[in-house]
Amino acid sequence: MTKYTPFWWEDQPQYKNNDDLPLDADVVVIGAGYTGLSAALTLSRSGRSVVVLDAEDVGFGASTRNGGMLGSGHKVSTVQAQRQYGSEVAHKIHTEANSSIEFTTNLIRDESIDCDFQQCGRLRTAWTPQDHISMTNNMNELKSIENFDSRMVGSEDMHKSITTGLYFGGQLYGHHGSVQPRKLHYGILQLAINAGAQVFGGFRANRVERLSNNLSQGFKVHVPEKFIKCRHVLMATNGYTRPDLSKYLSRRVIPVPSYIATTEDIGTDMVDSLLPGGHCIVETRQRYCYYRATPCGKRIMLGTRAAMHQITPKQALPKIIDMLNGIFPSLGGVGISHCWTGLTGFSFSKLPSIGCSGGVYYALGYCGNGVAMAPYMGHKVALKLMQPDKEQSVFERTTLSTKFYYHGSPWFLPFASAIFRGHDIVDNYRRKNAQKKDQSQL
Ligand SMILES: Cc1cc2nc3c(=O)[nH]c(=O)nc-3n(C[C@H](O)[C@H](O)[C@H](O)COP(=O)(O)OP(=O)(O)OC[C@H]3O[C@@H](n4cnc5c(N)ncnc54)[C@H](O)[C@@H]3O)c2cc1C
Repeated sequence: MTKYTPFWWEDQPQYKNNDDLPLDADVVVIGAGYTGLSAALTLSRSGRSVVVLDAEDVGFGASTRNGGMLGSGHKVSTVQAQRQYGSEVAHKIHTEANSSIEFTTNLIRDESIDCDFQQCGRLRTAWTPQDHISMTNNMNELKSIENFDSRMVGSEDMHKSITTGLYFGGQLYGHHGSVQPRKLHYGILQLAINAGAQVFGGFRANRVERLSNNLSQGFKVHVPEKFIKCRHVLMATNGYTRPDLSKYLSRRVIPVPSYIATTEDIGTDMVDSLLPGGHCIVETRQRYCYYRATPCGKRIMLGTRAAMHQITPKQALPKIIDMLNGIFPSLGGVGISHCWTGLTGFSFSKLPSIGCSGGVYYALGYCGNGVAMAPYMGHKVALKLMQPDKEQSVFERTTLSTKFYYHGSPWFLPFASAIFRGHDIVDNYRRKNAQKKDQSQL
């Protein structure tokens, strides 16, 4: 029987704070995922009194539901970033993306966070021959800015990493890794609490009210039947940002669901035979598909945008199974132990952002790449809040814009699903042509 809850939640300790909610604090952080907890850690270690609120159980959001792939990816190529922001910012986006991996990897290592971290590398697989060419160009461009541990893999060498004939080569990122995401979340939670932060689940922030027009007077954060007075508010709600709390942010972050399933225990021999390189795999296919072995090495986890809009995990499951069997036909008939969903937060610029609107700080918009980036951005936004005059990150310069047609309810995502299906059809046509060409050359 498939369970419709995250595999990562199995046999994990449940956090509960039995203290009374304080009446005041230096900072109230809204959202207890990686961003909020990492910010709370930095602020508490700097001597601020911090209260973190989550509307649901602590760890309800994407931070315990994700694929656990720790890397630096974002959805904008260097050329696109240069076109939009100029070379200086584009270069910094690349260097800070690498810094985010270093930051989170060091946090795990230095603080001995038990989260099954492995520096296993990530293979980005080319769905079409054109994808291989653009990846090569982008990699060369990026290496000329700052060298990093990455190399192209030709189709002929793909069998060392993965047992499928589906791809036209790939790009290997040696410094990327994997974690058990729920354990990483719990580790950062414990660090924040040990540093003095008070973290409460089940307290939805309903409203943020300014105490006066003078922002230095601070805010009241309203939760049901109570409020907390504070000097600063920090929003860390990413894909779970709703218009009732922040019209400004909910018009700028689009909640896009992702769907994941894990196979039943198929044994380490089977998993090793399918993924001999032990890497995390991320495709260039428009539908977006990512997979890896679970830390025990006995299951395969596969995630995809089964739909761009929200459907139930039960509805998503047949599409995930189709995708899994398309990649590994030998898994046909294998049972699925867990299937679940969660919300990523997309910005229109496809880049994350740090900022302050109406005196309220925020860090969000990770576009599905937050395992390394969200703890890093939480740290950076905490520094920004303490030293507002200093630029702490290039992601203060990325635009968090809205569109006239978006008011916080992503009515257009079903159309986006159709557009992506269209892209898939075009890509499949390109693949067939390339395959025909290969055969005619034999
Ligand atoms: C299925 C899935 C797979 C993913 N896979 C990967 C991956 O493999 N690699 C990768 O790098 N990234 C991945 N991501 C993205 C990554 O998980 C996120 O970018 C990251 O966890 C965001 O962290 P966060 O703390 O900003 O937000 P979240 O962890 O989503 O936390 C936001 C929290 O805010 C709370 N909240 C919202 N409104 C309120 C309110 N009014 N009051 C109080 N609390 C509120 C919510 O309850 C929620 O718990 C994935 C995401 C999903 C959903």
